[in-house]
Amino acid sequence: MKNVCVFCGSANGEGGTFLKEAKLVGNYLASHNLGLVYGGASIGVMGAVADAVLENNGSVIGIIPESLKNYEIAHANLTELHVVPDMHTRKKMMYDRSDIFLTIPGGMGTLDEMFEILTWAQLKIHNKTCLILNTDGFYDSLLDHLRKASKAGFIKPDHLSLLKEIKSVEEIAKYL
Ligand code: AMP
Repeated sequence: MKNVCVFCGSANGEGGTFLKEAKLVGNYLASHNLGLVYGGASIGVMGAVADAVLENNGSVIGIIPESLKNYEIAHANLTELHVVPDMHTRKKMMYDRSDIFLTIPGGMGTLDEMFEILTWAQLKIHNKTCLILNTDGFYDSLLDHLRKASKAGFIKPDHLSLLKEIKSVEEIAKYL
């Protein structure tokens, strides 16, 4: 089974659409025999993806640092929950246990994780695929900025293409 690492928000986001989309992602993973690797929280978009995978009898590996266990409310029913000493251990373990990365809506933590894994790809530390799910244009301005930075000479075209935009979760299939 391949594992998909999903970077996403610890908040719900405004309106119900982000949670709905999270559920679609979770349903898709479980129904395509793809395991979820994520930050281990039961709240926000993170919790919604994990719940949807579990409701469909899928596999979920959660990795949460001791310091965030209560703050982010660790999910109680995961296939595997790893409580690790710190943020760096969490991120390294999330990355090591995954075959492909998928960013869906979230905030600074989500972006931090996505950009870290992209910069590692840039440095050839790994060659795993990095996808960003841009439903309803949530990430339009971020993607525009990356293109602007590339035009300005700060991101090589080869590196810009390391982040692959998908418009619906079904498009993951092209990259497996
Ligand atoms: P957010 O997108 O800010 O809701 O955060 C989503 C996930 O990223 C959560 O699991 C956070 O623990 C994690 N996170 C938040 N802030 C940071 C940070 N500065 N560095 C790395 N991860 C973070």
